[in-house]
Amino acid sequence: MSTLHFVGPWDLNRRIGVIPDDPNAGPILFVESREKSKALPFHKQKLLLVLSAMHHFAQELRDEGYTVLIENAPTYLEGIKRSMENMKCEKCVLIEPREWSIWRKFDQAAKGELRGKLKLLPDGGLESGNFLISREEAAEWFKGRSSFRLHHFYQQMRKSTGYLMQDGKPLGGKWSYDSDNRKHAKGITPPDVPAPPLTNITKEQKSRISSWDGYFGTLEHFRWPVTRQQALSELESFIESRAQSFGPYQDAMLKEHHFMWHTLVSSSLNLGLLHPREVCDRIISAFEQDLMTLESAEGLIRQVIGWREFVRAVYWHRMPSLRTANHLGATVSLPDFYWDSRKTDMMCLKQSVSNVETNGYAHHIQRLMVLGNYAMLCGINPQEVSHWFWAAFVDAFEWVELPNVASMALFSDTTFATKPYAASGNYINKMSDYCKSCIFNVKKRVGSDACPFNYLYWNFLQTHRNKFETHPRMARNYNTWDKKSDDEKLEIVKLATKHIESIVSESSWSFDIDAG
Ligand code: SF4
Repeated sequence: MSTLHFVGPWDLNRRIGVIPDDPNAGPILFVESREKSKALPFHKQKLLLVLSAMHHFAQELRDEGYTVLIENAPTYLEGIKRSMENMKCEKCVLIEPREWSIWRKFDQAAKGELRGKLKLLPDGGLESGNFLISREEAAEWFKGRSSFRLHHFYQQMRKSTGYLMQDGKPLGGKWSYDSDNRKHAKGITPPDVPAPPLTNITKEQKSRISSWDGYFGTLEHFRWPVTRQQALSELESFIESRAQSFGPYQDAMLKEHHFMWHTLVSSSLNLGLLHPREVCDRIISAFEQDLMTLESAEGLIRQVIGWREFVRAVYWHRMPSLRTANHLGATVSLPDFYWDSRKTDMMCLKQSVSNVETNGYAHHIQRLMVLGNYAMLCGINPQEVSHWFWAAFVDAFEWVELPNVASMALFSDTTFATKPYAASGNYINKMSDYCKSCIFNVKKRVGSDACPFNYLYWNFLQTHRNKFETHPRMARNYNTWDKKSDDEKLEIVKLATKHIESIVSESSWSFDIDAG
C-alpha cells in the first residue's frame, strides 16, 4: 500500500511540498474536474492555461521517473477516491485547497469517509504551499485586532522577511512609495512584451478547448507561461525591459498597450509555477544590481508580501460571509458589456473589457478604477461582479479576486477599506489616453454628451451620504457637492438614474461556484 500524492492545479511546483523526492514513493495524481470547469463561464485562456500547465508538470514528473495519473472525474475528490482504489493507496497527501468550497469538501471528507486517509499539508510557511505564511499564521495576525489595515500587515511582513530593511528600518526611510508611483504615460511607448512560445502540449489543449461552448473570450492571443521555465523567463523579461519604469507608470493606462510595464507573473504565482519567495528574492537582487529603482522594487515587494498574502488572509478570515457582503445594498444586474466590449460606447470600459476578452487580463488600475469603479458607482450586485472577475481573468481565483472585489473595488465589505475607491472621469483622463477618443466629454458633468463617470460619481456620493460624509478624506467632496446649484444637482441625479436604468443585462450564463 503506497501513498497517493494529489497535486491541485493551483500547486504546480515540485518545491511546494507534495512531490516526494523518491519517484518510487507513490503515484502522483492530477485531476481534471469536470464540474469545476463548468462552475463559471471561464475565459477560454484560463482553461487553456490551467490544463496546459497541469499537463506540462505531469510530463516533467513522468520524465523524472514518477508514476503520474491524470484522472478526468466529476470532482477533485471523486478523482482522488477513484485513484486510491485503482492504485490500492491507503493514504493521499495534498496541500490544503486554496478555495473555500473545495477546502470544505476535503475537510469534511478528512473528518468523515476518508478519516485517517487524507493528509492536508499547510498552504504556506516554510514547509509547504505557495504563500510566505500559513493560514494559521495569518489568522494569528487577526486575533485581538479591531482594525485590519494593509500597512500594518505589510510592515510586519517586511520586518519578518527582512526585504528592503536596514537596521530594523525601511530602506530609504519610507515603508511605501505608492504616492511617487502615479505618473501618466501619455506620449510614452512601453516596451514590447514578448510572448512565450506555444508548446505542443498547449497546442493540443488549445484544439481540445476550441470546441467547448459556453465560455468567455478568445484563445487566439494566448501568451501565458505554462511551465516553470517559461514563468522564470517571464520574470527575467520583466526585469530586463520593464522593471525600471514599473513603479512610476504602474497606474497608467494606454489604449494601444495592454500590458504596459507590468510583471505578468500573477498567473504563474497563483498556479504555483513560481514561489513568492523566489519572486521577491529576484526583485531584491535586481534592485541591488541597479536594474530597478527602490520605488519600483518596493511597489512589487508590497504586491507580493503585502497584498497577495493580506487578501488571502482576509479571505479565510471572512469566508463564507464575504461572498454575500453587500454593505451598499447594490442590486443592479451586471451589464452585458462586461461579457462583450462591443456593447458599450464608453472608451475606458470598452478598452478594459476588450483587453480581458483578448488576453484574460487587465492591469490593476483597469480592474479597480475603471471596471470596479463603474460597477460600484452604478450599484451593480457584488456577487455578479465577483463572479465575472473570477471567470474572466487568467490569474483570478476566489481567494484573491473576492477580497479585492468586495473590499477594494465595490466597498461591499468593510473588513479593511475605510472608504470607497470612487472616482470621476477626471481620474481616468489623468491616468489614460482613453478620453480623447471617447464619444463622451470628460470635462462635462451634465448634458447628453457628459462623461457618465462624472454624473455617476456625484450621484453615488449623494446616494450614500449618510455612510461617507463624516469620513475625513471625503468631507471635501461633500463640500463641493453642496456648492453646486440645485439645478445641477437635479440634472446629475436625473442623468445617473437614467443611465443606471438603461443598463442591459440579458446574458444567460449559468453558475455553480461551489462545484468542483
Ligand atoms: Fe471613460 Fe468618460 Fe473618459 Fe469616456 S470620457 S473614456 S466614459 S472617463
